[in-house]
Amino acid sequence: MLKDIQNRWEKLGQDFEAKPEAALEHAVTELIKEGDVIFLTAFGAEGCVIFHMIAELVKSGKIPEPITELEQLNQKSEQGRLAIVNLDTGYQFKETIELKDQLEEKYGLKVIMLEPKLSVAEQDAQYGKDLFKTDPDQCCYMRKLVPLAELLDGRLAWITSIRRDQSSHRASAMAFEYDRKFKLGKINPLIKWSKSDIWKCIHENQIPYNLLLDQGYDSIGCEPCTSPGEGRKGRWAGKDKIECGLHIQEEEMEQGGEFTI
Ligand code: SF4
Repeated sequence: MLKDIQNRWEKLGQDFEAKPEAALEHAVTELIKEGDVIFLTAFGAEGCVIFHMIAELVKSGKIPEPITELEQLNQKSEQGRLAIVNLDTGYQFKETIELKDQLEEKYGLKVIMLEPKLSVAEQDAQYGKDLFKTDPDQCCYMRKLVPLAELLDGRLAWITSIRRDQSSHRASAMAFEYDRKFKLGKINPLIKWSKSDIWKCIHENQIPYNLLLDQGYDSIGCEPCTSPGEGRKGRWAGKDKIECGLHIQEEEMEQGGEFTI
C-alpha cells in the first residue's frame, strides 16, 4: 500500500519533470480533490513567487481562495482544501512579518500563522534562555518540526519553494515526490528555477519581497540564526547546520543529515 503511494508520487514527478511549474496547478485543481494541500512558506523570494502563482490561479477562477483559519483546517472535510501557512516561530524578522502583511493585502489572500506550543518566554523558562544558541536542533524541532508534523498529519500533500541548486540535500528533488518523513506528497514546482528566474518573475510581476534580500541576505529564516550571506551560507552561520530538517528525509538523517531529534 505504502509502496503504491510512493510509486504514484514518483510517477507524477517523472511526468512533470519537463515542466515542474505545472505541478502547482495540477495539485491545486486536480489532486486536491483527494485531500488537503498545504503551501508552507517563510516568504523567501521563491515563496513569494509561489504566493503570486496561487493568487493568479484564484484570480482566474481556477481555484477558490485558500482557507483562512487553522480551526477550519483542523475540522474534517469531504472536500480537499488549500491553505497558505507560515511557521511563526516567534523569532522571525519584523521585515518578514511586514512582508506577510503586504502579500495578504496585495493579493487578498490570508496566511495561517502556525505557532509552536511554547511561546519564546515559556521555552526560555523550560529549556534555558536562547536555546537556538545552545541546541539549535532542539529549538528547530520544537518550533518548526513538531507544529509542521501535526499540521501535515492526514493531509494529501504540501507545496514547498525549494530549488535544486540551493543545497546538496535539494539537488535531487522532483516536482512531485513522496515525503517519507511527514508521510504525504510533496510538491516542488520551482525545482528547475535559477535565482535569476526567480528575480525576473518578481520584477516582471511586481511581487513584494523581503527587503532584507536587498541587504545581502539570500535566505531568510529566524532572526537569531540568519546572517547576510550567499545562498544558504547565512543560515546558522558558524554552525555545522544548513537545514532545519524540514526537507531532509529519514534516510539522509540516518546517514548523517544534520538534524537529529
Ligand atoms: S532557526 Fe534558530 S530560532 Fe528558528 S527555530 Fe531554528 S534554532 Fe530556533
